[in-house]
Amino acid sequence: MIIWEGPSEIDGGPIMVIAVGTLASKANTKTGAMVQTYILRSDMGPFAAVQAGADASICGDCKHRGDGTGKQRSCYVTLIHGPRVIWDAFSRGIYRRVKPSVAGMMFAGQMIRLGTYGDPAAVPISVWEGLTANAEGWTGYTHQWRSLNAAWSRLLMASVDTKDEMLEAIGRGWRTFRVGTDPIENLEINCPASEEAGRKVQCIDCKACMGTGGKARVSIQIAAHGAGRKWVDEREAA
Ligand code: SF4
Repeated sequence: MIIWEGPSEIDGGPIMVIAVGTLASKANTKTGAMVQTYILRSDMGPFAAVQAGADASICGDCKHRGDGTGKQRSCYVTLIHGPRVIWDAFSRGIYRRVKPSVAGMMFAGQMIRLGTYGDPAAVPISVWEGLTANAEGWTGYTHQWRSLNAAWSRLLMASVDTKDEMLEAIGRGWRTFRVGTDPIENLEINCPASEEAGRKVQCIDCKACMGTGGKARVSIQIAAHGAGRKWVDEREAA
C-alpha cells in the first residue's frame, strides 16, 4: 500500500512510501519477517533515479550512493531486488492508498522496517509515528542525523561510517549503527545477526535498532557486507 506521497524533506523531489506486509514480501534471513517500507522517487524508477543522481531525494548525501551516477555504489540494497519489484508493481497500479495511522492499525503487533530502501528522514516524522504507533517494534537508520532533532533519535539509529562519526553522534544523543571494523568496548556490540557473529539472532527478536525508543542502550557495529563491500573495504584501506 502507498502510505504517503509528497515532497522529499531532503530536497523537495517527489517521493512516496510503499509498505509491504510480511506475506507479500520474501522473509529476509537477517531480519526475519518484517513489514517492509520502500521510500522511492514517485516520478521515475530506482535505476533511473540512481543514474540521474535523483536518488538524493530519498538518500540525501549518504556515501553509499556512490558518485551520483551509480558508480562505486556501496549500499547493501540491491536495486534489482526489492526496489525494482516494488516500482514495477506500483507502475502496474496494484497498490492502494492508505493513511499511515490506518496502516499502523493493520500492522499492530508486528515488526516494521523503516526505510527498507531510502532514508526515513526524507519523509515527515508523523508518517513513521503513525505507522509504528501499535507496532511490536521497528528498525530504522538515518545518515541525516546531524540535521535532525531529538524526536528522530527516539525512532532511528544514526548510520555512521567511521569511529569519529560514531563518537560525534553519540555525543549528540544518538545511538549509532556503524559499518566498519571491530566494536568499541563499552560503546558498541557486534550485530548478532551479522555474518561474523554467526547469524545468532534475527532483528524480529533482537529489537536493538529502535533508536533510543527501545530498551537497548549500547550502539551497534557490523562489518561491511553485501554487494558494495569492496568499495567500503577500499575506503577503509585508503
Ligand atoms: S543489532 Fe539487532 S536489530 Fe539491529 S540489525 Fe542487528 S539483529 Fe537487527
